[in-house]
Amino acid sequence: MAEEKTVLIVEDEKNIVDILRFNLQREHYSTCEAYDGEDGLNKARSEKPDLILLDVMLPKMNGFDVCRALRQEGDNVPIIILTAREEEEDKVKGLETGADDYITKPFSMRELIARVGANIRRTAMAAPAATAAADSAMPVAGDLSINTDSHQVFRAGRAIDLTQREYELLTFLASHPNKVYSRVD
Ligand code: CA
Repeated sequence: MAEEKTVLIVEDEKNIVDILRFNLQREHYSTCEAYDGEDGLNKARSEKPDLILLDVMLPKMNGFDVCRALRQEGDNVPIIILTAREEEEDKVKGLETGADDYITKPFSMRELIARVGANIRRTAMAAPAATAAADSAMPVAGDLSINTDSHQVFRAGRAIDLTQREYELLTFLASHPNKVYSRVD
């Protein structure tokens, strides 16, 4: 049997967490939970889930900020935003902050389970190539590495998105490790 996938549920309404946990576990996912944005961010870092269900309106830190913070750290975990209302603005903002998908409350559990599966499968299909590219990448500094064949940069084994210009700058700096450059304004 395939390895059990972990879904992190970040949601402050306990009854919704309970329903999500029950249904995900019935579909053979393991789950972990956070009831505010800060804890959600910490658990995303420590538990390395296969997918995150992320509510928008959360105590301490909202869902958009959690999503943005993870993407800035180079974390490509699939994220499905749970929006409270059918508001176009929320959906657009969610996708702009780097979420993969969104679902509107109240949601059908069948639809949610289907979206979870689809988003995990999509990532899993991309993963073997990424792992191979990460394995043959050259270490640069700290946990950063570069694969000059695939033109990809990895942090702690996960691909991070850079613009072409950022990639060129990084490879240039990496090939001149002992020089100090001053910024030209
Ligand atoms: Ca909420």
